[in-house]
Amino acid sequence: MNYKIALIRGDGIGPEVVGEAVKVMDAIGEKFGHTFTYTDVLMGGCAIDAVGKSYPDGTAEACKACDAVLLGAVGGPKWGHSTDPQKRPETALLSIRKDLGLYANLRPAALRPALAEACPLKKETAEKGIDLMIVRELTGGIYFGKRERYQTEDRGEECADRMAYSEMEIERIGRRAFELARLRGKKVASVDKANVLETSRLWRSVMHRLAEEYSDVQYEDVLVDNAAMQLVRDPGQFDVVVTENMFGDILSDEASMITGSIGLLPSASIGDQAPGLYEPIHGSAPDIAGQDKANPIATILSVAMMFRYSFHLSQEAKAIEDAVDAVLNEGWRTADIAKAGEQAVGTIRMGELIRQHL
Ligand code: NAD
Repeated sequence: MNYKIALIRGDGIGPEVVGEAVKVMDAIGEKFGHTFTYTDVLMGGCAIDAVGKSYPDGTAEACKACDAVLLGAVGGPKWGHSTDPQKRPETALLSIRKDLGLYANLRPAALRPALAEACPLKKETAEKGIDLMIVRELTGGIYFGKRERYQTEDRGEECADRMAYSEMEIERIGRRAFELARLRGKKVASVDKANVLETSRLWRSVMHRLAEEYSDVQYEDVLVDNAAMQLVRDPGQFDVVVTENMFGDILSDEASMITGSIGLLPSASIGDQAPGLYEPIHGSAPDIAGQDKANPIATILSVAMMFRYSFHLSQEAKAIEDAVDAVLNEGWRTADIAKAGEQAVGTIRMGELIRQHL
């Protein structure tokens, strides 16, 4: 098979980590008999420098002509100050999610066995293992609601951010979560704040309807404040955690910290149609850009997610994950995951070691 992949290398360490991920894809292609054709798409700070806006015309169309998108990272201090949205790198991220209809963000948080000591939780908690997937609604809720700022007569200035969810939006993300749970540990925890918010009460009623339909999946409601506590108390209890946009934003970052390093975690954003977008959860790390210090594993594992969720190539995805685990088991580390006194390898060498295990 031939697969077309849009590469948004982006800024900072983006081009370095995407470069290693591309080499891994080519190695997989050779081993399993696939070909990958790449289209470079300009987006982010580098696009501001080149054409004056972070999301150049035709970006979405170029991505839609491909089967999947791999993104490094965009942004950096150089472009952090403009008030013109077209000159802000984050505008490009929000625009591409919207234009590609990417309403589901999948953020796995798995503690890789070789790095159990990097988990900041109690030893006995880490030993139980952590392997959860946060399914975050990505295109609705308070981040996309109407914003208002107005003057009151007696209380000074006042602001409001509207949070809205429709049954349709809740049902489609819920279905994603239940389907995913069927492929994993068959458990869904739905996180809401139904004791306070009307949107959460609608969320909960739709989830309950789905839970009856997917009766082979074990289901529970968890209030968001309790979910935040449980994630640090006993994260091993969770399999798939589904939640709305803002709760998911916060909880997925919390979950990433309990696995030890930002340089290891991949993510996927998917909708009902191709292409899905795959990216590491970290940013452009300007402090280490261009120094061959970035950990490419999160981006390489994002390719594994792409293979599994966009191309249904689970054997190929597992080959990548196994190669990463093998390299870590042998003790190889990049600087971000090396313990004091341990020698670290650079971005390029880490990519090479992973390819050697394929
Ligand atoms: P960051 O994730 O870029 O960096 C945080 C810290 O983690 C830094 O010390 C960095 O060196 C380290 N780090 C990150 N990725 C690493 C890797 N692969 N290997 C080794 N170390 C790594 O977060 P930040 O500093 O808050 O953001 C920097 C820029 O990235 C900002 O402009 C931000 O807007 C942008 N950003 C982009 C995305 C995206 O493109 N999706 C996501 C988050 C942040």
